[in-house]
Amino acid sequence: AAKAAGRNTVVMFEPQLAENLNTRRELEQDLREACRTGKLFLHYQPIVNLRSRRVVSYEALMRWEHPTRGFVPPSDFIPIAEQTGLIVEMGEWAIRRACMDARNWPADVSVAVNVSAFQFKSTAGLISAVKDALLISRLPANRLELEVTESLLIEDQEASLEAIQALHRIGVRFSLDDFGIGYSSLAYLARYPFSKVKIDRTFAQHVTSDGPSRSIIEVVCQLADRLGMQVVVEGIESEQQRREVEALGAEQAQGYLFGKPQPVAQLVPRQDAA
Ligand code: C2E
Ligand code: MG
Ligand code: MG
Ligand code: MG
Repeated sequence: AAKAAGRNTVVMFEPQLAENLNTRRELEQDLREACRTGKLFLHYQPIVNLRSRRVVSYEALMRWEHPTRGFVPPSDFIPIAEQTGLIVEMGEWAIRRACMDARNWPADVSVAVNVSAFQFKSTAGLISAVKDALLISRLPANRLELEVTESLLIEDQEASLEAIQALHRIGVRFSLDDFGIGYSSLAYLARYPFSKVKIDRTFAQHVTSDGPSRSIIEVVCQLADRLGMQVVVEGIESEQQRREVEALGAEQAQGYLFGKPQPVAQLVPRQDAA
C-alpha cells in the first residue's frame, strides 16, 4: 500500500525526486543482492538494569554494509525492505541469527529483535519462523523478546493480536518499542501481553530540562508497574539523564552511555569480565 501510495503521490516531475527514485531503485536491487549473499549482519546494544548495572538483554540492530556507499542506516533500508517485501526474509534471518548468537550468552541475558508490522501480514509464516529459530538454536523461548511498534497495533489488529498471543503462549516475550510518539492509546498497553514498554528516546533527550518529558516518564513507569510490565528508557547518553530517569522510577535503560551497538564478537569479553 505504501508503495502504491508512493507511486501515485510522490512521483512528480522534479529532477531531484527522479534522482532519488533511481537511487532508491538501485538500493532496492543492492539490498536484494545483500540478502542473497549474506551481506547483512546484526549489531547488539545492551539494555541494563539501572540499579544493578547488569545487562538484562541485548537488542539486535540490523546493519548493511553497501559495497560502495558504506553503511546504510536502517532508517534508509528498512522502509525499502518493507515496501519490497524483502523485510520478511530479512526479519526471519535476524530472528534466527539472534537466537543462535544469544545461545552463547549467560542464561539470564535475553535477546531482543525488532519485528516490522509487515512481518505480521503472514502471521502463520512469522509464527513458524520464530518456532524454527528457537528449535534450531535451542534457545529457551523466554530469552527471546520481540519488539513491535505502535503502528502494528493500529493496522490489522485482530491478526497481529492472535499471532502475539500464540507466541506469548510458547514463552516468547513482547516489548512495545518507541512508546509515546505514535498514535496508540493506553488501552493497547493492557490489551496486548507486553512484558516491556520502551519509552522513546525523545523523552530521555529532554528529561533534564523539560517538565512534560519528566512527567510522562514518571507516569508511564507507574502505569507499567500497575500493569505488571517493565520499563526501558531509550537513548540515555549522559550520567545526568541516567540519574534523572532512575529517580523517576525507570528500572531499565538503553543508550550510548551504557554501550553502542557492536558486533557480537565484542560482547564476549565483557561477559567474561562481568
Ligand atoms: P529502535 O528499535 O528504536 O532501536 C534503537 C535505535 O536507537 C538504534 O538505531 C540505536 O542505535 C539508537 N540508539 C540507541 N541508543 C542511542 C542513544 O543513546 N542515542 C541515540 N541518538 N541513538 C541511540 P538504529 O540501529 O539506527 O536503528 C534504527 C531503527 O531501525 C530501530 O529503532 C528499528 O526501528 C529499526 N531496525 C533496526 N534493526 C531492525 C531489524 O532488524 N528489523 C526491523 N524491522 N527494524 C529494525
Ligand atoms: Mg527496538
Ligand atoms: Mg526503540
Ligand atoms: Mg527508536
